[in-house]
Amino acid sequence: MTKKDRYLHFVEYFSKNQPNPETELNYGNSFQLLIAVILSAQCTDKRINQVTPALFERYPTPESLAASTPEEVFTYIRSVSYPNNKAKHLVGMAKILVDVFNGEVPSGLDDLQKMPGVGRKTANVIASVVFDAPAIAVDTHVFRVSARIGLTNKATTPLAVEKQLTQYLPQNTLGVAHHWLILHGRYICVARNPKCAICPISWFCKYYEQAHTESALLKAEALRLKKVKDQKKKNALNKISKELKKRSVDNNG
Ligand code: SF4
Repeated sequence: MTKKDRYLHFVEYFSKNQPNPETELNYGNSFQLLIAVILSAQCTDKRINQVTPALFERYPTPESLAASTPEEVFTYIRSVSYPNNKAKHLVGMAKILVDVFNGEVPSGLDDLQKMPGVGRKTANVIASVVFDAPAIAVDTHVFRVSARIGLTNKATTPLAVEKQLTQYLPQNTLGVAHHWLILHGRYICVARNPKCAICPISWFCKYYEQAHTESALLKAEALRLKKVKDQKKKNALNKISKELKKRSVDNNG
């Protein structure tokens, strides 16, 4: 199957089955989403959703957060990863929002990245979710899943993944494709043992195709070797059996 076919099937499948995917972070406005996305770096959305209600209540505006201190903010976010740095980032971000952007979350990627804690990924999330811009944020799920499906090829950095996805995906699907890939990566195409056996898109997934093609070849070779008595070949057969077992665990994990 060609890369173009995989893209076609990917867009077709998810457009039909998940037409309106959304972030799992809870937020009420663009300022709150910015806070939540900064906090979510290397942390789960579930954990972030546990701390944000109290945080949003205490700091309802950029001005109130800018007037606070990292030490005080820390007390609200102590259970998330890297709370010290993130507390500093949040206060620094709010100060720039107030001083430079008049308290409004800016729409441009460059402006967004002027704030501490806001890298390209966060900026892309805000641009796409808040401003409906044709942008795709690449996090660990997007990176892994797009490579496995075969949407990207030899992309070794998030920026390379972003460029390849942007090149091939229709512009109007970039924002939703981010959610499709994240949700698929979070629940089915998980990092260590992807649940290929129950995956609804295995039929156009490159990883699945390769794993099964190679396994099929190995099985045929095992059958052939079973018929020979030569010890060397028996050793080779054992090796293949082990490899097949390993693959079956990997695939069904
Ligand atoms: S078939 Fe497996 S590797 Fe491919 S997308 Fe599904 S879970 Fe991921």
